[in-house]
Amino acid sequence: MKTIVTNIGMLATPKGSGPKKGPEQGKIEILKDAWVLMEDGLVSQVGTGPAPAADQTIDAQGHLVTPGLVDAHTHLIFGGWRQNELGMKLHGKTYLEIQNAGGGIQSTTNATRQATEEELTQKAAQALDEMMGFGVTTMEAKSGYGLATEHELKALQVIKNLNDRHAMDIVATFMGAHLVPAEYKANRAEYIRLVCEEMMPKVKEQGIAKYCDVFCEADTFTMEESRQVLEAGLKYGLTPKIHADEIEAIGGSQLAGEIGAISAEHLIVCPPEGIASMAKGGTIACLLPATSFYLGAVFAPARDMVNAGVPVAMATDFNPGSCPCLNLQFVINLGCLKYKLTPEEVLTAVTLNAASAIGMADKVGSLEPGKQGDLVIWDAPDLDYICYRMGSNLVRSVVKKGAVVR
Ligand SMILES: [Zn+2]
Repeated sequence: MKTIVTNIGMLATPKGSGPKKGPEQGKIEILKDAWVLMEDGLVSQVGTGPAPAADQTIDAQGHLVTPGLVDAHTHLIFGGWRQNELGMKLHGKTYLEIQNAGGGIQSTTNATRQATEEELTQKAAQALDEMMGFGVTTMEAKSGYGLATEHELKALQVIKNLNDRHAMDIVATFMGAHLVPAEYKANRAEYIRLVCEEMMPKVKEQGIAKYCDVFCEADTFTMEESRQVLEAGLKYGLTPKIHADEIEAIGGSQLAGEIGAISAEHLIVCPPEGIASMAKGGTIACLLPATSFYLGAVFAPARDMVNAGVPVAMATDFNPGSCPCLNLQFVINLGCLKYKLTPEEVLTAVTLNAASAIGMADKVGSLEPGKQGDLVIWDAPDLDYICYRMGSNLVRSVVKKGAVVR
């Protein structure tokens, strides 16, 4: 089956099957009056001018087309929400006070443990529909609210269910080391042992997770504990990712480069030595500007990272606490306005570099022969427009593996 998208006013796409760094991050291909031919779900040809014949034609009506967006960092699987905490925050309650009142991340853990696999699957499927409506066609999802062997495995199984049932491609990350749950607060070492020696062998046996992530932060896991978790993950075939330098720089970004993590996440307060370590280790910086926005925090030094030759990706960090936002278009706005990245650099950050951060760059992240026919037709004449407009959903339609899904 041949499907063609014709009458594309502007086609904007990075090119290649790996991360782009330094000046390369802003070098994308722009084609005017273009078309994309797809065969059996894969792009077979991209061109300009008169379009070849196909079984099915999708008319882009002169609009912008980009690759399907890739959201490389989400905490998709969780029970409940935490809207009741907003009022407490507005009244000046600290995170600790909210936690002591039964809120915070532990309340999400309790709700996630109580929910069945099917309940979690249905809840997350709604989020996937919404994300796809915003132009996302591939994403990463982490476990990490179960924090007990059975519930971590349940969350990963939910990710597999969704990947099987939904048009979205989803890559799974095991994040048993998201925080130390209440019942282990007095015995952190025992929880780390549980993650490394009990959960990980079962995660490997289950065969769903591809990555292992850890929250390296002052009040969660130290740099040495994080190293222990990621090294254990490597033993079980899980590639390291790390939440680093979100609130305090305690060495997470340095560790990322040293251990060869595929990506380091957040990096809000990343120091120069962390940037240097990531550049040396080939680690992708996965930046989450909507979280900075939601927390009222500063924004990661994205330009310093680009200048140092660290590939920059951007993602939503969708989660029920610090970023209940799954709109990658808002992240695009923030990438320009807060990181001062150019529209071209931003496009690479939410397509090819994001795909690279989740091991999918050979399949998605750009529109060129051999890649999946995943693309977005925008209600926009050009790339600048989607970076400039804010607060609207500018997606006209979404094509996944050659078929219109939105
Ligand atoms: Zn996160």
